[in-house]
Amino acid sequence: MSIATNIKKTLDNAEKLNETLNCFLTIEREYATRRAAELENSANENQSLRGVAIAVKDNICTHFSQTSCGSRILGNYQPQYNATAVEKLVDAGAIIIGKTNMDEFAMGSSNENSAFGTVKNPWDTTRVPGGSSGGSAVAVASNVVRVSLGSETGGSVRQPASFCGIVGLKPTYGRISRYGLVAFASSLDQIGIFGQTAKDVAEVLQVIAGRDKHDATTAEMEVPNYVAELEKEIKGKKIGVPRALFGEGLDEEVRNSVEQAIDNYRSLGAEIVDVELPNSKYSIAVYYILATAEASSNLARFDGVRYGFRAENAPELREMYMKTRSIGFGAEVKRRIMLGTYVLSSGYYEAYYAKAQKVRTLLKQDFLNAFEKCDVIITPTAPTVAFKIGEKSDDPLAMYLSDIYTASANLAGIPGISVPCGLSAEGLPIGLQLAGKNWSEDVLLNLANVYGNEFPLKAKPKLAITDYKIV
Ligand code: GLN
Repeated sequence: MSIATNIKKTLDNAEKLNETLNCFLTIEREYATRRAAELENSANENQSLRGVAIAVKDNICTHFSQTSCGSRILGNYQPQYNATAVEKLVDAGAIIIGKTNMDEFAMGSSNENSAFGTVKNPWDTTRVPGGSSGGSAVAVASNVVRVSLGSETGGSVRQPASFCGIVGLKPTYGRISRYGLVAFASSLDQIGIFGQTAKDVAEVLQVIAGRDKHDATTAEMEVPNYVAELEKEIKGKKIGVPRALFGEGLDEEVRNSVEQAIDNYRSLGAEIVDVELPNSKYSIAVYYILATAEASSNLARFDGVRYGFRAENAPELREMYMKTRSIGFGAEVKRRIMLGTYVLSSGYYEAYYAKAQKVRTLLKQDFLNAFEKCDVIITPTAPTVAFKIGEKSDDPLAMYLSDIYTASANLAGIPGISVPCGLSAEGLPIGLQLAGKNWSEDVLLNLANVYGNEFPLKAKPKLAITDYKIV
């Protein structure tokens, strides 16, 4: 099939499903059609992602489309440059077909914090897709695209991947450039990748990983051949199980499913060992101090002068700032800016921010200790399956607990992947998480790939494109 025909079909599918799922904020028909024609006329057949349609979260800058961060304060702001990850995808022949819905400024676990409406889970449209990269997860789960970009600060790729029954990778901090990723909490943020399979993820990581002169926090590290490692024998790989984390707050069905997955890995030849992560019980507290502190500083730039929206009828400068930010930001973003400002204020800085930094170091040390005994650590990705829309939206603390298994990887800087491992009695997907040593994405993808091949999910989402095999 020609690239143009494929892209046309993909755009039609995106438009059709978006009416119900609300996963795209923009679908770039004109741009994508033009790119398809350009590719067909170009002689460069060697591009690894030639003609592959990709959806991109709307906090990743694209000069050909808006970048709203799911917020009114940016509205239809259009950046003047592409994020490095986007630039690399385009150079590799990929076609960005649109920007996906998300929790405002990537703050959330359910996609209910978007200024542009909730995203629906294609397995059950009365349920959330997870967040904050819910739109990108749904675009993949519903079979519109096979890969998409999301972003991770505390679990925003792995958790929606788990809720939507797909693979989601959060790479090592410094593996993928953050240039052009709108900052939420800079010491935790990374671009992440969703795929229908581990192979989809590996192909995209291969292209976008690596040092970038525009982002000083990217590492000068060789990029391995992720695709070549996918099929490697996993016999002898050591998988650590932090048993203490399989207790309180974990849904019974999720626990059973992950226990089964551990047995499955054993049957594939992996060695299962016990490990401890004694400080991980503090991860949510530490995360919500550090992430909000950094957010309060990063979001100061949205003031009505530099980008997007400016409130009317505010003749005086301070009044203009206040009105713009009051109208432009949603409730969750305001809550976090206030919390972050508080933990950084004099008198509280030592008690909260400085203390949290110290515990972050301990958490990191926990992982280093555990990785002396194993190659990867397995846990559930999230404590529950996808919950109902509205179920947790009035209870921020309950919502924050969605990231109990994921946030520690961001705090430690290590990579993590969510892999579908089963279905609940109601037919909703369950995900397992593997966390690895720094720069061990190849190991994670290998373990994810072998698992996906041997133990694929036995069902598909109700609301998915079924009559079309994506290229
Ligand atoms: N759910 C977490 C939060 O609300 C994580 C978000 C993220 O990873 N961007 O902050």
